[in-house]
Amino acid sequence: MNTRLFLLHVGITFILLGATQFLSPNTTFAQTIDTTLLRRHIAFLASDSLHGRGTSTPDEKRAAGYLANYFRSLNLAPKGDDGTYFQTFPLIKKNDVLPDSNRLAMNVAAYLDNGAARTIVIGAHYDHLGLGYDGSSLDPQPKGKIHNGADDNASGVAGTLELARLYATNGIKEPYNFLFLCFSGEELGLLGSKHFTEHPTVPLENVHYMLNLDMIGRFDEAKKELVVGGVGTSPTFEPLVKNIAERSFSNQLALALDSSGVGPSDHTSFYLKKIPVLFFFTGVHSDYHKPTDDVERINIGGEAKVLRYILHIMDSLQAAPKLAFAQTRVKQQAGHSYKVSLGIMPSYSYSGKGLKVDAVTAGRPGAKAGMQDGDVVVKIGQTDIADIQGYMEALSKLKAGETVPLKVLRGEKLVELAVTF
Ligand SMILES: [Zn+2]
Repeated sequence: MNTRLFLLHVGITFILLGATQFLSPNTTFAQTIDTTLLRRHIAFLASDSLHGRGTSTPDEKRAAGYLANYFRSLNLAPKGDDGTYFQTFPLIKKNDVLPDSNRLAMNVAAYLDNGAARTIVIGAHYDHLGLGYDGSSLDPQPKGKIHNGADDNASGVAGTLELARLYATNGIKEPYNFLFLCFSGEELGLLGSKHFTEHPTVPLENVHYMLNLDMIGRFDEAKKELVVGGVGTSPTFEPLVKNIAERSFSNQLALALDSSGVGPSDHTSFYLKKIPVLFFFTGVHSDYHKPTDDVERINIGGEAKVLRYILHIMDSLQAAPKLAFAQTRVKQQAGHSYKVSLGIMPSYSYSGKGLKVDAVTAGRPGAKAGMQDGDVVVKIGQTDIADIQGYMEALSKLKAGETVPLKVLRGEKLVELAVTF
């Protein structure tokens, strides 16, 4: 998940649905998710020996080799450059982390050819923040620390590998082909998926839809929240994802639906090519973009549930004609420039008044002012905060060094703080 895009996106409206009360029986879905394999993939990709899979590092290459070997073991066809699994692309120099503008990064692509007219793309980014030099870590002193990225996004990659295994070994010839795509450069700005959609190795006009798995490893068994993004990109999606959650996963999933095709991850690149997309995400947590995003904190059973849900959705779309594409509303970003920030992670699914804070980053202005996880920001300086847009507007008016009053709701209590930026 890309932090900057996440923060821009988080204000876009969500439809929150509670877990339903329907008591229909659970499905006897034939295909079984192998949680041992899932955990093995995540443990390897998020191990310290891969040093956080920084884009275009030798460690990321090792991760790419692991993915290609796994696809090869499933007898999937290579769909990268020149008959390989790898699609390389030049990294445009972004910042001082990447001093050499000639470096290459690579996507990994594998194809299950069922001889069908249309192809389903299942994708997940496999790069992460490496040793914390790229500026998007939320650790107060990130440099040199391994950002393992178990949830972000070894979890989504493991899910992609597991779906690849199921479809490659089930002995069924589905009425679609499958392209399994692992992207690089997501954390630096969706670079890999952008490159792929500019240089596709399957005709994009034949892509039925694209599923993006980014951070599906931290399903919360109490909240049961699953964010499904992109449901507005085809009229088929919203009733379908709701129905399956209600009928086959009664009381097990609380969907937070986001209609927009533009979001903080790689499905955006496909949506911009007018392809229907769905994006699956189990929500932000206090280890997000920190060195503590480790395999021990992954909920493997929860991830398996998310994957079963995805399998149901794909299964229900098997008989569907070519999905209609729909444009979704994109909130215009006001083009503010920010000289200050509180150092907080907003809640992705809060829809009340104010800005709810999921996590406060130690050592940053918000934490220093005494903010706590779960606070709802309602006023900064003289500005009342109704939502994330209001928050961003208020920030755009402040300068470094300024001290202003800050009002937050902590439970029922209004707490007055003073924050120095
Ligand atoms: Zn991320």
